[in-house]
Amino acid sequence: MSEQIKPKVLITIFGATGDLAKRKLYPSIYRLVRNNTISRDFAVIGLARRDWSNEVFRDNVKESVEQAFGECERLDDFASHFHYQSFDVTDDTAYDRMKELVEQLETQYDTEGNRLFYLAMAPEFFGGIANSLQEYGLKETPGWTRLIIEKPFGHDLESAKELNNQIRAAFDEEQIYRIDHYLGKQMVQNIEVIRFANGIFEHLWNNRFISNIQITSSETLGVEDRSRYYDDSGAIRDMVQNHILQMVALLAMEPPISLTTDEVRSEKIKVLRALRELDLEQVHEHFVRGQYGAGVLDDEEVVGYRKESEDLVFSNTETFVAGKILIDNYRWAGVPFYIRTGKRMAQKQTRIVIEFKDIPMNLYFKSEREHHPNLLVINIQPDEGIALYLNAKKSGSEALAEPIELSYKQGAMPAINTPEAYEKLLYDCMIGDATNFTHWDEVALSWKYIDPILEVWEKEQPNFPNYESGSTGPKKSDELLSQDGNHWWEV
Ligand code: NAP
Repeated sequence: MSEQIKPKVLITIFGATGDLAKRKLYPSIYRLVRNNTISRDFAVIGLARRDWSNEVFRDNVKESVEQAFGECERLDDFASHFHYQSFDVTDDTAYDRMKELVEQLETQYDTEGNRLFYLAMAPEFFGGIANSLQEYGLKETPGWTRLIIEKPFGHDLESAKELNNQIRAAFDEEQIYRIDHYLGKQMVQNIEVIRFANGIFEHLWNNRFISNIQITSSETLGVEDRSRYYDDSGAIRDMVQNHILQMVALLAMEPPISLTTDEVRSEKIKVLRALRELDLEQVHEHFVRGQYGAGVLDDEEVVGYRKESEDLVFSNTETFVAGKILIDNYRWAGVPFYIRTGKRMAQKQTRIVIEFKDIPMNLYFKSEREHHPNLLVINIQPDEGIALYLNAKKSGSEALAEPIELSYKQGAMPAINTPEAYEKLLYDCMIGDATNFTHWDEVALSWKYIDPILEVWEKEQPNFPNYESGSTGPKKSDELLSQDGNHWWEV
């Protein structure tokens, strides 16, 4: 992070009593302040319906920071910058009160009129809030105004367009920061560096040398206490439409002419435009869905999705998706991008495997089956790092080879949805760098790709559950690759 710009800012969090604010936002703001990344001239307004006082709010903020980092320095001083207002976003009269508080704190903390509004609430409120911020003059300030919006951005293309139109009626595209916390992760950002700073990869990064690319994002956890949200969404909306397609775009894009937001985005958008759209009758050939049944994980028996809560007894929501994505451009024609994501899987991992094409003759292995293609593995979590699988001579006299692994680990990093990702993204927003946020065109193109899959799945009754907890997903996910002569790499 740049040491030069230390933004002064007033952050207003809608949904300040919620889970996201507590687990991610407060620890992230704490680190930004403690590391001197942002100015000490900052203040935070927390808004939610609960009838909290400033003291209760501050105790909550302190607790969340301590839960994240243990005992911390100058926590009381930090928390004193937090102010709470009980606020129902559907009540128009509340915005006048909020404006008064905003103006008072701006003077008190000398934040130069820089306003960051963070919508950490259910998406059905986003349009109304944006509209009221405009209507009640909360955007009128000598500083900048930016709006961070949490996922999900819509339920399908149509609803996403509607939401976007509502928000765009009040805010310009440059003021809107649609968050995808995967894009805040160091190893995801590293995809670009690995590609564009290394000749040995970038020269080979195309359909002449790459056989296929695999992206896996799996969790061992089940739906936990998020069943209401999750059951409405499912794995394809929760993971594929946003995080996974963003990773596809980063892996497949052309080198940008510079690292500016516009150049990087424009290359990503070109990839999303080149995704081969699926006809309804092709959906089954390319996508597999699943829902977990009971099983054993870490020696413990766990129940199936439909038994997780009373509301889920008849649920047809998918907790697993595997897909084969094709990109119709010169670089990628014929190279499948296989993706899979699921809950209650054998392993917690987010990993990209790039499988290079084989050499034409096998001189050094006893059988084709032992032959190991070269793989580049990018581990996003846990164990952030990269590994390269090569073949080298086996010790002994025979002229035989064996696969070896060259690996680099970034050190013990915490899990994916960490405060670090939010911290980076909050800071980027404060300095006006939108590179790691999603532009509307990216959101729209992603939904356009996903919509036919949703349409087919919604019409058909799935045969769920179809994979055991603690497994690698339904059998059909393996078949998706085996029909192309490939298989998932569990390296
Ligand atoms: P949550 O725990 O249910 O929090 C919702 C917040 O909204 C609460 O503070 C609630 O407080 C407030 N609220 C609800 N109705 C309100 C109203 N009419 N007026 C004012 N405040 C109201 O939800 P969350 O898990 O924090 O998620 C927030 C957003 O982040 C969602 O869009 C979610 O999809 C997204 N997200 C969450 C996570 C995560 O890890 N939690 C991860 C990624 C994305 P009161 O009840 O006190 O009003």
